Amino acid sequence: MYDLTIIGSGPGGYVAAIRGAQAGMKVLLVEKDTLGGTCLNRGCIPTKSLVHDTRLLQAARASAVLTGSGALAVDPARLLARKRQVVAKLVGGLGALMKGNDIEVVRGHGELIGPGRVVVRPEGGGIMEVAARNILLATGSRPAVPPFIPVDGRRVQTTDEALDAEEIPGEVAIIGGGVIGIEMATIYLNLGCRVVILEMLEDILATEDREVRVLMRRLLEQQGVRLHLSARVQAVTAGEGGVVVRFQGAGGPAEQLSVDRVLVATGRTPVFSGIDAKGLGLAMEGLFVKVNSRLETSLPGVWAVGDLVSGMMLAHKASAEAETAVACMIGSNQGNHMRPIPRCIWGPTEIGAVGLTEDEARGAGRKVRVGKFDFQASGAAQVMGHGIGFAKVVGDSDTGEILGVHIVGEHATDLVGPAVAVMTMEGVVEDLARAIMPHPTLSETIMEAALDWNGLAVHGPKKQGR
Ligand code: NAD
Repeated sequence: MYDLTIIGSGPGGYVAAIRGAQAGMKVLLVEKDTLGGTCLNRGCIPTKSLVHDTRLLQAARASAVLTGSGALAVDPARLLARKRQVVAKLVGGLGALMKGNDIEVVRGHGELIGPGRVVVRPEGGGIMEVAARNILLATGSRPAVPPFIPVDGRRVQTTDEALDAEEIPGEVAIIGGGVIGIEMATIYLNLGCRVVILEMLEDILATEDREVRVLMRRLLEQQGVRLHLSARVQAVTAGEGGVVVRFQGAGGPAEQLSVDRVLVATGRTPVFSGIDAKGLGLAMEGLFVKVNSRLETSLPGVWAVGDLVSGMMLAHKASAEAETAVACMIGSNQGNHMRPIPRCIWGPTEIGAVGLTEDEARGAGRKVRVGKFDFQASGAAQVMGHGIGFAKVVGDSDTGEILGVHIVGEHATDLVGPAVAVMTMEGVVEDLARAIMPHPTLSETIMEAALDWNGLAVHGPKKQGR
């Protein structure tokens, strides 16, 4: 009898395994593929490796001081090899962590057959039924592909294939201008590909602050991306000569374009492999497994976290939920205490955001005041040659509560960290402004944005009426 059996070893599953083991539980982790799930194998880590490495070339080209006429180029084989090396190292590290925590790992398919019961089919053959006091479902998500788009893995791909593709396309059409669309566009741009983005909504990156979106759009267009907004893709036809994409623009006639490759980035959907929700009577909430504030499903002792339950599909959200679920299993926590969840996007420059956008805050009826600081005025940004971007603090003008922080620019994904920490501690804008940030670093931009909220930015323009 296990105290905890987990199906799926992504950032939800493996964190739950470690937390369970730390609490003295006997833990079994069942994974049908490689340890680490989408994040490690087909998501966060591979994309960041590719973004990082391809950016080096961009940075060298943009440098004001490097000279020489030698042709600097990305070697696609080395690019892939390094990505695989990074992934392999981290997967190996996870294996060691499991071992070090005495977590039993079975590579095979897990199937929930009822509360307390899982059937495991190990990769090497055989079948075993496992009894467990707690079962955690952490099976993650997969790309959601519209039925009329024929993914063949070669000319029409999702990130599952694109992140391991050996050929660099000349021109690529990306369907979907969400997070994956923009991150993949960035990699292709850095590699010198021509990029077209077809987005069904009126703007890219719908979840982000309006001013952030405007800057991102501008940067993409400056790099030559052809953006088709309010574009409804009607057909995708792959042939030997390339792929033809037919779409309807905003109110315009049907158009078509011909490209070497299509990347489908139209969202992700939960994976129900080994979970027959209907047969088991597992309550659902739309496409997602319904859970209470403890992350427990409608079946007693069966818990679910990550992309399988509603909310943002983010690795760190899955991990935080896993911690809460295990804490609830052992009785050290009574329910999900909502903590702010940051959002990070690695585009032509970075986005780090947490909390409400300015429009969302106003829409929620809050009394909003905004503080903003431009990277142009940051000594550190100038030193780095990255004057594009800003930090923006959205606060409640009555109470000073931090409603949202939005940073766009170099290192924004790291910069959002301090803002998350202050918000988690339920600090106010004043706290962000009072913290002494080291000079010259980009962290000063958040401090200055918080100071600007009170009209007191040191390196910003004087605010009217103050
Ligand atoms: P998404 O929901 O962020 O974006 C999908 C986009 O595709 C939307 O803008 C949508 O309007 C558009 N779209 C859908 N159908 C379309 C169609 N037929 N034609 C044109 N456009 C269409 O989803 P995603 O970018 O695929 O990412 C999936 C999930 O993974 C998201 O929840 C995302 O947050 C997460 N993710 C996060 C990161 C990160 O945190 N850096 C990176 C990658 C993925």
